[in-house]
Amino acid sequence: MMKLNTPLIIAGPCSAESEKQILTTAQALSKHPQINFLRASVWKPRTFPGDFEGVGVAGLEWLRKAKEATGLKTCTEVAHAVHVEQAVKAGIDMVWIGARTTVNPFLVEEIAEAVAAYNVPVMVKNPVNPDLDLWIGAIERFIRRGVEQIGAIHRGFSGYRKLIYRNEPFWEIVFELKRRYPTIPIINDPSHLTGDKALVREMCQKALDLEADGLMIEVHPHPEKALTDQKQQLSFDELSDLLKSLVYRNPKETSPSSDILKIRTQIDEIDSEIIKLLSHRIGLVREIGDIKHKNRMTILQMERWKEVVETRLALGDAVGVERDFLMKILQIIHEEALRVQENTDDTENTD
Ligand code: PEP
Ligand code: MN
Repeated sequence: MMKLNTPLIIAGPCSAESEKQILTTAQALSKHPQINFLRASVWKPRTFPGDFEGVGVAGLEWLRKAKEATGLKTCTEVAHAVHVEQAVKAGIDMVWIGARTTVNPFLVEEIAEAVAAYNVPVMVKNPVNPDLDLWIGAIERFIRRGVEQIGAIHRGFSGYRKLIYRNEPFWEIVFELKRRYPTIPIINDPSHLTGDKALVREMCQKALDLEADGLMIEVHPHPEKALTDQKQQLSFDELSDLLKSLVYRNPKETSPSSDILKIRTQIDEIDSEIIKLLSHRIGLVREIGDIKHKNRMTILQMERWKEVVETRLALGDAVGVERDFLMKILQIIHEEALRVQENTDDTENTD
């Protein structure tokens, strides 16, 4: 269990880019007493080779200077055991493992061994995949090594097509982690979750309303010039406005309204998935419509419709969705598919 103030507010740039950038940021953050930690990554796991991969150990020295100048504690991402050693030796107060590392048992194991040896607090970001077991498995590797100061960071998961957020929250996974590990603080990372600075404030408030134990917010002196994650980093002024606007709940208070909020949040996510899936389905139906039209085929093909109904009703039976209800939905979807395909014909006929 982390013996740190909650809510734990961590802020700082995505990447350490220069000594000046780190020191200026630390000065700006130190004006807010509610901020406990300065974050900055010096080793960056990037999707594409050739992208900026961090400044390496030089950045650890800048963080040490920032801590000396402002008294802020510091944290950074580690991706293997040597990083842990280098970070701790440079005076870093806490480390975290990134979403791409959490999925890798070999790396997590060696990091856990090093974290235990150096007795440094660690935070485990959720894995890229929406899979609670992967997250728990990584956390357990630290627990079994005897690490006591463990936090979890909710940064969202790769989902089915992006609609609003860069990463899908999948709140259900977070609530279940909290239920199983009530003493592990869960820090919300609104920056990587939303991927959009315009959405960071609402995500922070939502997370606090849903009992998050802290926030990790990306802030940069000149977000538009940042070498990584430009769109999601806040300026110093934006951070000040955000901190002023947040409403903190009483962490001990669990009321029926917070239970209802949790369930509604999950229902909202399901509805958004259903809409994304419907949009994808309609797009595919249009493609079929084009092919049928070019080949002068009939739109309604009875055999296919029968097969759709039979397989879907069987799936519904397997998961307990009532047949009459599912049949109504299938009919509405099918009518829409026919309408979309007829419209494909109309447009082309007018050419
Ligand atoms: C980060 O915190 O800058 C980062 C790379 O995060 P994630 O592992 O969540 O992508
Ligand atoms: Mn980032």
